[in-house]
Amino acid sequence: MILVGEGPAQARNEIRSMLADAGHRPNQRLGQNFLVDPNIVRKIVATAGLDAGTRVVEIGAGTGTLTGTLAEAAHRVIAYEIDGSLEPILASVLAERDNVEIRIEDAARIDLDVELPEGSWTMVSNLPYNVGTGIVLDALRGAPRIDRFVVMVQREVADRMLAAPGTKVYGLPSVIVGLHARGVRAFTVPPHVFEPQPTVASAVIVLDRIDAPSQAPRAIELASAAFGQRRKMLRRSLSLVVERTEETLLSASVDPTARAEDLSPGEFVAIARAEEAR
Ligand code: SAM
Repeated sequence: MILVGEGPAQARNEIRSMLADAGHRPNQRLGQNFLVDPNIVRKIVATAGLDAGTRVVEIGAGTGTLTGTLAEAAHRVIAYEIDGSLEPILASVLAERDNVEIRIEDAARIDLDVELPEGSWTMVSNLPYNVGTGIVLDALRGAPRIDRFVVMVQREVADRMLAAPGTKVYGLPSVIVGLHARGVRAFTVPPHVFEPQPTVASAVIVLDRIDAPSQAPRAIELASAAFGQRRKMLRRSLSLVVERTEETLLSASVDPTARAEDLSPGEFVAIARAEEAR
């Protein structure tokens, strides 16, 4: 294998020839845009702040470029890949790594909290664009073993996940992220570092888990109903899901004439608490 700079990250020519040798054509439907810039791979791994004790879960191993670099820095890596035709490439690229387990599975259909061994985990991934958002939001809600996420997503997805109340892109994903994590955008990534090149830019975000309030699941149901009719005032958009809507909103110190996008994640929690107190 040709090594570029330090570590096992793969460059464009190398990835092209590995794919060609295996008769593999990147599958757009599976979001197969492989990272071909070793510097970006190393930047992602550096951002993850791994040490020799860190357990890492990766979604979408691809040709194993990020996987190998993660394995070098971490204690253990479990990497999911849906496309079984990449298995021979992964087996060869990762042959000398005894701390990596490749699982050929659809990561959108598994319960990571059950599948990952006990202990705390960091998710580090260049996520497939089609299922990546759902996987992160589900893991935030249902896989508390993952306490840190360092993930690359499309730039607009990053914007939506990290949006503040009152902005145009603030919505349900922002509320789910806000209830479970402190999030920052680490850096943006241009299309030319991928093979094949996507049409849009990407961004790496870091989400550090915080303790979510016990009312978070109900707050998410409320936010889902409210954003389902985001142009309507809350007294209307929540009328079917919150009993005595106006009174409950007022007791949560929420203005019934406000709209979904005006409410912080904490205010959706306040409505859920007001329901409990009734
Ligand atoms: N990690 C590699 C890299 O950075 O070059 C590949 C990243 S590529 C953006 C996303 C990868 O996720 C692809 O290899 C694709 O086959 C895989 N993938 C797509 N959907 C998946 C799913 N539901 N479960 C697991 N892997 C999936």
